[in-house]
Amino acid sequence: MTATQPGTALDSASVAAFARAQEVIPGGVNSPVRAFRSVGGTPRFIARAKGPYLYDVDGNELVDLICSWGPMLLGHAHPEVLDAVMSAAQHGTSYGAPTEAEVDLAAAIIDRTPVEMVRLVSSGTEATMSVLRLARGITGRDKIVKFAGCYHGHVDSLLVSAGSGVATLAIPGSPGVTEATTADTIVCEYNDRAAVREAFATYGDQIACLITEAAAGNMGVVPPGVEDGAGFNTFLAEICREHGALFISDEVMTGFRVTASGQFGLDGVVPDLMTFGKVMGGGFPAAAFGGRAELMHSLAPVGGVYQAGTLSGNPVASAAGATTLRLATPEVYAHVDRAAALLQREVADALGKVGVPHVIQTVGNMFSVFFVGEDVEAVPDYATASTQVTARYAAFFHSMLDAGVYLPPSAYESWFLSSAHDDRALDRVVSALPAAAAAAAE
Ligand code: PLP
Repeated sequence: MTATQPGTALDSASVAAFARAQEVIPGGVNSPVRAFRSVGGTPRFIARAKGPYLYDVDGNELVDLICSWGPMLLGHAHPEVLDAVMSAAQHGTSYGAPTEAEVDLAAAIIDRTPVEMVRLVSSGTEATMSVLRLARGITGRDKIVKFAGCYHGHVDSLLVSAGSGVATLAIPGSPGVTEATTADTIVCEYNDRAAVREAFATYGDQIACLITEAAAGNMGVVPPGVEDGAGFNTFLAEICREHGALFISDEVMTGFRVTASGQFGLDGVVPDLMTFGKVMGGGFPAAAFGGRAELMHSLAPVGGVYQAGTLSGNPVASAAGATTLRLATPEVYAHVDRAAALLQREVADALGKVGVPHVIQTVGNMFSVFFVGEDVEAVPDYATASTQVTARYAAFFHSMLDAGVYLPPSAYESWFLSSAHDDRALDRVVSALPAAAAAAAE
């Protein structure tokens, strides 16, 4: 299959680049999912990008439905973002001293979200790692609660698998993560309120914080469920409050993407602490964590919880991020929402016509297609997401790629769109769907 795809023929430039990369970078990639292991084949090496398109080193134009795993809300190489980046870089690229640019970015985040103060960092992983330290420092407690299938970056204590049982103590999710590191992490199934109640009933006075993706996007898109009129995030905020634990909403993926603020714009739940990344960096390494001023004042240099970074608040990244947020107008969100709704309808139609069982789930303009069995009507958690027939996704993925559409190379990811996805790009996706659906049906 792989040898016949455009760009991945044996003599293609991507194949040569991948061979070279594997000699100097483990697996040839700097983040594992890029290696295409779960769908097979050779990853495309990208030479450049513009608007909704990626151009690989063989010159293929690909409609990009990953958008750098979320950040590129405005599409690639947006002229105003580029101008801001170039003008910032011309003044110098890093000073290790405060700048007005980082204050502008912090203020833009605060304007759009319920946080009163933020600290800027360079990656989502750094944001979640730092916010856990802050929560533990403030509460003087050790334990944390997280959900199976929620990804918060490769923080040791969050890189865990669920043990057996309802609310279980975690086991290391990777060699190199020690049992001692995960001993204080409790894992529950997402959307399972009984498991969360059990965790708090058992460990309540030891729990520093509960961290959740504001809406899950890393097991495929799984919205927080509603029971008896109360959303899952509202339930989590309340149970944390009852037990004196801090409620942390990780909006690294959803923030400034699913609405102008993020999942907060959909359910209005005010967490104690939040994390942000992706869109707010405008395609550069920038992320943040924030919350009420009274909590954030526990950070050094005001308080005792240490946290720092050589490139934190980098002026070029801050300029890209602040400009992106300024340009992310209601019209941008309306466009991306419409494009996402259109693609969901078309995917459902194509799969329906050839009888491929599936579930499509959405949060704002993020969505994913689960190739689950016929009996599955909804995917509320990781256990259900894991029942996917991933071979169907691989066949679907490669057919789309053959037709010049670049989907996430894993069945467990969201599809992302941008305001640059115009009719031409969307038509290309739509016309590729029947063949991909047929491939998934085989
Ligand atoms: N939190 C969430 C919800 C994420 O989706 C991710 C990355 O995908 C992270 C944290 C980690 O961010 P980064 O990859 O910038 O370290």
